[in-house]
Amino acid sequence: MRYVHYCEPCDARSPERDTDHEAKADRALHRRRAHHGLRPADRIEEIPGPVSIAASAILSGLGHAARAGARRLATSDAVRQVRASTYWQQAVRLLAIGTGVLVLGAVLVHKMF
Ligand SMILES: [Zn+2]
Repeated sequence: MRYVHYCEPCDARSPERDTDHEAKADRALHRRRAHHGLRPADRIEEIPGPVSIAASAILSGLGHAARAGARRLATSDAVRQVRASTYWQQAVRLLAIGTGVLVLGAVLVHKMF
């Protein structure tokens, strides 16, 4: 995260700083020099770095998907009934066996060639 002091009346932006403290020092200096110590409509802006932008995008995407998925499953009686049925349990078992056979086949083919 980077910090920058922005003064709206002057439309002036200080250099980006590593800490909030440095940006506040810029603000104090600007207020003293340009506004005779008065407080203009200014603010300290937080500029997220590329890593935090990517991380927050991924996290919000995952959070949204998880919430949407959980809500859909929890509100669906059909899903609950299907899961309780013996057909579903058989299907899950067959799927597990099928996956096992495929993995075994892949391992055997890999060892043969
Ligand atoms: Zn100013």
